[in-house]
Amino acid sequence: MADTNDNENLQTTNFIRCRYCGQRNQTGPGEGQPRCGRCRLPLSDAPHKKFAELKKEQYIHPADRKAMAALRAIPGIDSALKKFLAVTGESAIRVIFTASAVKVTPHQCPDLYAKLQIACTTLGVDMPELFVQQNPIANAFTGGVERPVIVLYSQLLERLTDDEVLAVVAHEVGHIHSEHVLYLTAARLIEYLAKSAVLASPLIPIVKELFTLSMRAALLAWARRAELSCDRSALLVTQDANVIGRTMMKLAGGTFASKIDYEQFLAQARDFQKTYDEKALDRFWADVINSGLSHPFPVWRVSEVLKWVESGEYKELMTGEPESAAA
Ligand SMILES: [Zn+2]
Ligand SMILES: [Zn+2]
Repeated sequence: MADTNDNENLQTTNFIRCRYCGQRNQTGPGEGQPRCGRCRLPLSDAPHKKFAELKKEQYIHPADRKAMAALRAIPGIDSALKKFLAVTGESAIRVIFTASAVKVTPHQCPDLYAKLQIACTTLGVDMPELFVQQNPIANAFTGGVERPVIVLYSQLLERLTDDEVLAVVAHEVGHIHSEHVLYLTAARLIEYLAKSAVLASPLIPIVKELFTLSMRAALLAWARRAELSCDRSALLVTQDANVIGRTMMKLAGGTFASKIDYEQFLAQARDFQKTYDEKALDRFWADVINSGLSHPFPVWRVSEVLKWVESGEYKELMTGEPESAAA
């Protein structure tokens, strides 16, 4: 912006510490939007909050809480999950990904590793293992039980910017922070059960035996709502609602997203909120489950993120102060 043509030969090198990962970066003049050499996120002087003691209760979406309470109220669910935990074990999942996917380390895809570290230090979660797997679907998931692993599909990385990849990684780390992982793993296997065409896993008969039909229905109903909590985790890490909105737009619009107007997409999300009807939405869940979408309704999810921001709860978490004079 400023004209410095009177001292052409003067070195105007600056150092900026990355607000996300802490790396000290050297920036020269005229490079456009400078990015951190380590995590590749944009450099700026704005602060980035790391939460000292974030509790899941501080951000869990009410629909997640309600569905989880309904699930926990089913007699026998605790012992079914305990048995499930005992028979699944971690090793099988780890072996599958170690054999078939690229493990992210400080030396392999170091910028992804840095993004995982940023999400974990911001929310206060121990680092899980992270894998990248070739898959034409833009998706990510967290699996495992006690030692979770996060898997990002290659298509997601090809389609999203660095900020948006951080949002996805933070969403997955949110599942760990929210203690969703055991339930999510059970829900995913139940989904496989519903799609009989999927390759038979040795776990399928176990799932069939352990979980009654009402347990399965409650697990699936909860799993979709759990996404809403983790979109909030993603916002707590990116600290920019537009990054979440753009990520959802790309998930909704696919490769066509480059032609979609973001402002119009936001207007659509706000419009959706106005006509929102929980009962009608409930009826949709069954179709969503049948269609095999694991992260459904991007427009609805954006509208929920916007609503949370507008409620003042997000700002309260960020500043540590209530928005209004509430007790
Ligand atoms: Zn950085
Ligand atoms: Zn999720």
